[in-house]
Amino acid sequence: MPLVSMRQLLDEAAKGGYGVGAFNVNDMEQIQAIMEAARETKSPVIVQASRGARQYSQDNFLYHLMLAATELYPEIPTVLHLDHGNSVETCKTAIDMGFTSVMMDGSLNPDGKTPSTFEYNVDATRQVVEMAHAKGITVEGEIGCLGGIEDGHGAGLDGLSHLTDPDQAVEFVKLTGLDALAIAIGTSHGAYKFSSKPTGETLKMARLIEIHNKLPNVHLVMHGSSSVPKALQDIINQYGGKLKPTWGVPVEEIQLGIKNGVRKINVDTDNRLAITGAIRKVFWETPEKFDPRDYLTPAREAFTTVGAAPMTQFGQAGHAGDYAPIPLEEMARRY
Ligand SMILES: [Zn+2]
Repeated sequence: MPLVSMRQLLDEAAKGGYGVGAFNVNDMEQIQAIMEAARETKSPVIVQASRGARQYSQDNFLYHLMLAATELYPEIPTVLHLDHGNSVETCKTAIDMGFTSVMMDGSLNPDGKTPSTFEYNVDATRQVVEMAHAKGITVEGEIGCLGGIEDGHGAGLDGLSHLTDPDQAVEFVKLTGLDALAIAIGTSHGAYKFSSKPTGETLKMARLIEIHNKLPNVHLVMHGSSSVPKALQDIINQYGGKLKPTWGVPVEEIQLGIKNGVRKINVDTDNRLAITGAIRKVFWETPEKFDPRDYLTPAREAFTTVGAAPMTQFGQAGHAGDYAPIPLEEMARRY
């Protein structure tokens, strides 16, 4: 099966009433781990790369590893998505490379740091929509600003200072014609999302529901939605790490989101924690080892286990065989 458009996966998810996890990758082991988790759970999957990941792995390596994934896992509908494109030009390079979905994050200026104007966001997103849809490629946009910083991208604000305004979201969708909308409801990127278990004061699920009620047919996206389980933090700290206590987004809140229009859920931190914990354990227990396979193999297995859990929790498990891929040319005709 070739790489498929994200729009098709999200449309199917909306029909089936489930969500699809989007997992960030940087290297071969992470791609292998997430494809294995998708096979184990029979899940369609979104694999995404940030600008930092594209720089780290180099686009050609990343793209060809993803082609290998489609050859080795032909039964899994797989999307290659650009996470947080900072400019029209960045989205263009991803489309030219063969990504089947891009995020134009115009909520920030091209520096990836300062919140932009609504007019700039509409204009940049609209340009990417025109360019991408002509090729059948999906576009995710963002309105409001997420908290935190990831790979140098983000305003570094707390998650609550630029929440998505529901009426502005309606206007934004109408003016841009995008496929999926990332909203700010109090979540942040990175490990340190909440300093205690989030409540209705810090994670604004009511705001999400209000947006869904105004835009019932738009696929919503939750960013910064790792659950940061204590068990993963504990493994790292048990083997010499020094993580401060932190809380992520509880799975039941994500499931409430899925009941209210959330179709894509970004998960990155949990997988990073799993990989680091597994590597630390090998280093700590067997310091004489030096073959990278001795620690990358358990790291890959840990990512597979931690990646499979949300696939089941979000409901995408079991849906890999539901549909045949729609060719991108056909997707382009449908827009
Ligand atoms: Zn994000």
